[in-house]
Amino acid sequence: MAAMIDLRSDTVTKPTAEMRAAIAGAEVGDDVYGEDPTVNRLERLSAEMLGKESALFLPTGTQANLVAVMTHCRRGDEFIVGRAAHVFHYEAGGAAALGSAHPHPLDFAPDGTLDLDEVAAAIRPTSDHFDPLLSHFAPTRLLCLENTQDGKVVPLDYLAEARSLATARGLAVHLDGARLFNAAAALGVAPAEIAKHADTVSFCLSKGLGAPAGSMLCGPSEQLHVAHHHRKILGGGMRQVGVLAAAGCYALEHNLDRLADDHRNAERLALGLDALDGFAVDMPGVQTNMVFLRLTREDPADFAKFMAERGIAILVEGPVIRLVTHLDVTAQDVERVIASAEEFVS
Ligand SMILES: *Cc1c(COP(=O)(O)O)cnc(C)c1O
Repeated sequence: MAAMIDLRSDTVTKPTAEMRAAIAGAEVGDDVYGEDPTVNRLERLSAEMLGKESALFLPTGTQANLVAVMTHCRRGDEFIVGRAAHVFHYEAGGAAALGSAHPHPLDFAPDGTLDLDEVAAAIRPTSDHFDPLLSHFAPTRLLCLENTQDGKVVPLDYLAEARSLATARGLAVHLDGARLFNAAAALGVAPAEIAKHADTVSFCLSKGLGAPAGSMLCGPSEQLHVAHHHRKILGGGMRQVGVLAAAGCYALEHNLDRLADDHRNAERLALGLDALDGFAVDMPGVQTNMVFLRLTREDPADFAKFMAERGIAILVEGPVIRLVTHLDVTAQDVERVIASAEEFVS
C-alpha cells in the first residue's frame, strides 16, 4: 500500500535521517545557564537571518507569542490582534489567562491584513495630563500581526505602514511569523526584509522547516532579556536542549530553499481541484503552502472519509477544507490527491 499522505498541516512533518543525525551528534550544555553551544548557535543564526540583535529558543510558537505579549504589555495593557489570529483564536486565551494582557480583536481583511483605519480607531485615547475619564481605558501597547496569515503573504508596504502607525501612536509591533520563511520564499526576499517591520518576530521550526519542535523569538537584546525572564516564568527554560536546537539549525541550513517546492505543489493541487466540478478553491488565497476550499454539492465530512480510505488525511473545519503541503508531500502525492478527488465527484 502507498504511504499515507497527510495534508492536515505542515506540523506533521517528521525529522529526516539527516536531521536525526544532526540531533544525535549535537553538542549540549545547560541552556538555563546559557551554556548550550547548539542553542547559542541556533539563536545567533536566527537573529542574523532576521536582522535582529538577539533571539530566544522556545518550545512552541504559542509560548513564543505569549512571551512576546508579556514582554510588550504589562498587567491590564491592551493589544490589537486579528480575530482569526493564532494569538487570539488558537492559543487558549493564554495572553489573558497567563499574560494578564487584554486582547482587542479586529477582523482580518481577506488579504490577511488588519485595516489600518480600524487599527487607528481601536487605539485607546491617552493624554499627557491627568484626565479622570481616561481611567476607563486599558492602555493600548501592542499591535500583533501575522505573516503568513492562513497561507496568505502580507504585503511589505502594508507592514511598513502598520509599523509607522504603531510607532506614531507609541505601540510596539509583534509579528507572529510562524510561517515567516514561507512568506519570504513567496516574495523572493530575505526574511529580514519582512522582520524589519516589527519589533519582535516569532517563527516556528516545527512546521514547513521540518524540525520536531521549537520556535524562535527575535528582537532587540533589551527586550529579549525581559523575554528570557518570561520564558522562565512559563516553565520554558530547558536544559540540554541542544538536541532540539540541532534540528532547528539543520532546518535553517537545509530546508529553506525547498519551501518553493511546497508552494508549487500547493498551486498545482489548487488548480487541479478547482478544475473539478463540485470543488470551489479560494484561488487568490493560494500564495504559499495552504489551500482552502469548499464543496459546492457534497458534504465535506463525506469527502474526508472517502479520502481517508485512500490514505489521504485532510482537515475539515465546518464547511471549509484546508490542505497544507510540506516536505513529506511530493509532486506525485499531489497527483494522487487530485485523482482521488476526481474519483469522489465522478
Ligand atoms: C502554528 C502556529 C503558531 C504556533 O503554534 P505551536 O503549535 O504552539 O508551535 C503560532 N502562530 C501561527 C499563525 C501558527 O500557525
